[in-house]
Amino acid sequence: MSELKLTALIIEDEENIGNFMSAILKANGYKVILCATGEQGIQCAESYCPDIILLDLGLPDIDGMEVLKEIRRWAVTPIIIISARNLEAEKVSALDAGADDYITKPFGNEELLARIRTALRHRRQPLQADTGTPVYCAKGLKIDFDKRRVFIGEKEIRLTQIEYKLVSLLAENAGRVITYEAIIRDIWGPHADTNNQILRVNMANIRRKIEKNPATPQYIFTEVGVGYRMLENEFSN
Ligand code: CA
Repeated sequence: MSELKLTALIIEDEENIGNFMSAILKANGYKVILCATGEQGIQCAESYCPDIILLDLGLPDIDGMEVLKEIRRWAVTPIIIISARNLEAEKVSALDAGADDYITKPFGNEELLARIRTALRHRRQPLQADTGTPVYCAKGLKIDFDKRRVFIGEKEIRLTQIEYKLVSLLAENAGRVITYEAIIRDIWGPHADTNNQILRVNMANIRRKIEKNPATPQYIFTEVGVGYRMLENEFSN
């Protein structure tokens, strides 16, 4: 195959994590550039114009948030944050500052590759709702964006207006985390006097309707302290 390789820039000072990611990506056909400092990372982003950037926020020289903001000043390249556990506030600020997604340490090969595929896909071709076919389909859950109808297998699921908006927003961004704030803004508007409680109530109702066991959801996952992530779309793979 003479396919052109996608270039991934990894900005990570922990050698073992950097090498681990680099090995996975190389084995999966990516060209990899590995930088251990923020300054070097910014320089490499400018000179190589990578297709995807994996950015650790805890860097030895400058804060990863500064690296993110600096790159976002001129590039729309998808950026995935590599984050430690229990740093939810940090994840939210990174998403608000233009990161596309994050991945929490420790993570495995499949998770890393899936996050990258999703981020690349969303930059290249946003889901079209006018194809006339169900554009979301995963594990028996189908959403026909044209007709605004939701099915589990053959059974149609009756959602309220708000519930449908919520499910379709997450489905259009399937595989990516969407922050609570972004969801509230999208559904209730930028000046809405609303809070996470209303969102949680709607989500609980949706889960009762679509999940076999709402306590262990298989379609819409909670990213504690950050937002929701919907199962990746099988239809667009
Ligand atoms: Ca680090």
